[in-house]
Amino acid sequence: MRTVAIDLGGTAVKLGVFESGRLVASDEFAAVDGQIGLDEVADRVDSLTAGERPAAIGIAVPGVVDSEGSSLLAAHGKYAELHDLDLSSWSRSRFGCSAVVENDARAALIGELTDGSASGARDAVLIVLGTGIGAAAVLDGQVVRGRHGHGAILGGHITVDLDGPRCPCGNIGCAEALASTWALAADAEAGDLVLGPELATRLADQGTIGIRDLVETRVEHESAAILDRYIRTWAAVIVTQCHAFDPDVVVVTGGVMRAADVILPALRDRVHADLWSSSFRPSFVTPNDPSTSVLRGLAALAQDLGSKGRL
Ligand SMILES: [Zn+2]
Repeated sequence: MRTVAIDLGGTAVKLGVFESGRLVASDEFAAVDGQIGLDEVADRVDSLTAGERPAAIGIAVPGVVDSEGSSLLAAHGKYAELHDLDLSSWSRSRFGCSAVVENDARAALIGELTDGSASGARDAVLIVLGTGIGAAAVLDGQVVRGRHGHGAILGGHITVDLDGPRCPCGNIGCAEALASTWALAADAEAGDLVLGPELATRLADQGTIGIRDLVETRVEHESAAILDRYIRTWAAVIVTQCHAFDPDVVVVTGGVMRAADVILPALRDRVHADLWSSSFRPSFVTPNDPSTSVLRGLAALAQDLGSKGRL
């Protein structure tokens, strides 16, 4: 069965064509200013498939999806043109097949459960540390979606500081607003961080700083302090997800994991120290191929949709 996966990420669009679950062709292009033209997506899919109709399509979006799995409900600041657009109807009219729409973190978790770092796990959580903080959970083999599509994916929006800033989501002191790539860049630009000489030089030279800069300058106590606060914030997110879902495995992914050698052991140790005393201490893993986690999850969802014959 041929399926197509479309990952409408916050900074790039990735496309994959799968034959019997195996990736056989792919494409990627930048999403300029968080905007995406569906016509360009469709044209590129046509090129990949040579116009041959797929059995079904999976589409991932960086936000909340309706409980029917057909539309993006909310993604603060991203893809405004997709809100409430029925992407399954778009797929039927453009490609002649149905589509399933899924939150990107859930799709990544499904990809890792299907044939990745959490393969075979029935209870797992996934945390995406990157531009923002994404999350997802599978509980007793069932992906948690909740009554209204919001289940388990808002882990980055737990309050970790009652006196913290108002997050774009509307809540106060969210983890994502205090420890994410966008928060780091915004706080550095606003002059809200105490920076050591090397990190200050990087900010001046580059115009911004990222997590990699923090890691590489951590011999400076100012950088080490920021990094420690970020790791404690991410640990609070994971502890909360573990308290909620009691997983065997925690999958940590996202751009921050390019520094996994430094961050992952510190994060795991902090979580294990802070968990409820009798809680199981889950293993921590990172995807072997994080660039295709979402696509592989979408292919699994599309294959499921296609095999049910709801075309
Ligand atoms: Zn928030």
